[in-house]
Amino acid sequence: MAGKFRKCAMLCCSRKPVVIEEMGKDEYEEAIAGLNKLLSEKDQLEDVAAAKIRQLTAELEATAKKPFDPVERIKTGFKHYKKENYEKNPTLYGELAKGQSPKFMVFACADSRVCPSVILNFQPGEAFVVRNIANMVPPYDQTKYSGAGAAIEYAVLHLKVENIVVIGHSCCGGIKGLMSIPDDGSTSSDFIEDWVKICLLAKAKVKAACSDLDFTEQCTNLEKEAVNVSLGNLLTYPFVREAVTKKTLALKGGHYDFVKGSFELWDLDFNLLPALTI
Ligand SMILES: [Zn+2]
Repeated sequence: MAGKFRKCAMLCCSRKPVVIEEMGKDEYEEAIAGLNKLLSEKDQLEDVAAAKIRQLTAELEATAKKPFDPVERIKTGFKHYKKENYEKNPTLYGELAKGQSPKFMVFACADSRVCPSVILNFQPGEAFVVRNIANMVPPYDQTKYSGAGAAIEYAVLHLKVENIVVIGHSCCGGIKGLMSIPDDGSTSSDFIEDWVKICLLAKAKVKAACSDLDFTEQCTNLEKEAVNVSLGNLLTYPFVREAVTKKTLALKGGHYDFVKGSFELWDLDFNLLPALTI
């Protein structure tokens, strides 16, 4: 800077404007050169920065692309559970080693977001759970629905559960599937549509009662109405009917909304209990 200033002072003393002009031109060119140098250095800096970013990105991508190891995930998960739950509750697991007597049987959707043990904090031994597409209870049918029938029979006659809770949920793909089946009943899947047709009656009811609502709102209504059909289907099992009549078994409907973070619970007589909001 000092050198430049001296040069400038000396140049400014000149009486020849043309010279000054020429000097100014020199300085301008010098500035351009300096700027270019700076820009060049900046480019180099950018290159270095860009290279670093590329390297970091590549490292991140390599980490992200590291193949998911299901065995490792299961090992980690079980180790965590054993340390944090199993080993901390020896009394509970000592009892469970002798047998189970859950108070609840639960029908829940297979959807990965709605695990009843997670959302209702059921501990091991508390709930006998059946999960399927759209948490449906099929009507009594020894041939077509023996899997569901066996679970209900075991829960009611052997475990003597005191409550059966059918829990629907928000954004249920199975319910959307049911709502999307064409009116002529034609299907294009091997199992799914035929399965969700268990609650076709609920769909008819919702379509009739909620024709002014859009598809999403109709689905929300159907998520709850399908639960009611399932509760009705439970009564087609003679041992369920008998236990309900004796009042040793209560049937309840529920709806978990994971968008709003709320849970509704109602009884078989469809009296809606106040919604529990978390
Ligand atoms: Zn679902």
